[in-house]
Amino acid sequence: MLEIVCATANAHKVTELETLLGAVVRLVPRPSTLGEVDETADTLEGNALLKARAVSAHTALVALADDTGLEVDALAGRPGVHSARFAGNDADDAQNRAKLLTDLVEVTTRSARFRTVLALVYPDGRELLVEGLCDGSIAHEERGVMGFGYDSIFIPDDGDGRTFAEMGPEAKNVISHRSRAINSLRSVLSTR
Ligand code: IMP
Repeated sequence: MLEIVCATANAHKVTELETLLGAVVRLVPRPSTLGEVDETADTLEGNALLKARAVSAHTALVALADDTGLEVDALAGRPGVHSARFAGNDADDAQNRAKLLTDLVEVTTRSARFRTVLALVYPDGRELLVEGLCDGSIAHEERGVMGFGYDSIFIPDDGDGRTFAEMGPEAKNVISHRSRAINSLRSVLSTR
């Protein structure tokens, strides 16, 4: 079975990867000796590749990294790759959501999508990119208390009108950008 080292140490993401990929790969935790990799690229693909390349070079194993952004049509795709620091370099999730609601206060076209990119990098230099999309719209105010990030202001098109934060993790994971990206990776890996 293919052994893959995760570039993320985030326990929630690792569990989700294990649940969806466990049948086709064996996941190895990120080595604690490796420092944070600076996300200096200007695309999700670029940042995912930076992280996966660094971990693969450090471990000589196949490495998997992810990067996610919220792309709002009325803002020409922003915050996108800058989603984590939309309201400033030290901004927290609540400040990022508040800025987005303020920027859209006069805006009626509220379509948006979450996009997750996964990069798989092999020690011999081969690289694979897959993405997962979740289309939806930005609510007019925060709703729900579950989840994180932009969950309380994102209403997925494939849902029933609730925000991700009102749906909870199980219902969210069925349609989320991240689970779609992981499922797409699983399809590719299981045909190899
Ligand atoms: P990361 O690439 O997973 O670190 O995500 C970048 C930023 O996008 C995070 O800081 C979150 O604010 C946001 N984000 C990523 N995934 C989600 C999600 O599933 N729901 C809500 N916000 C998310």
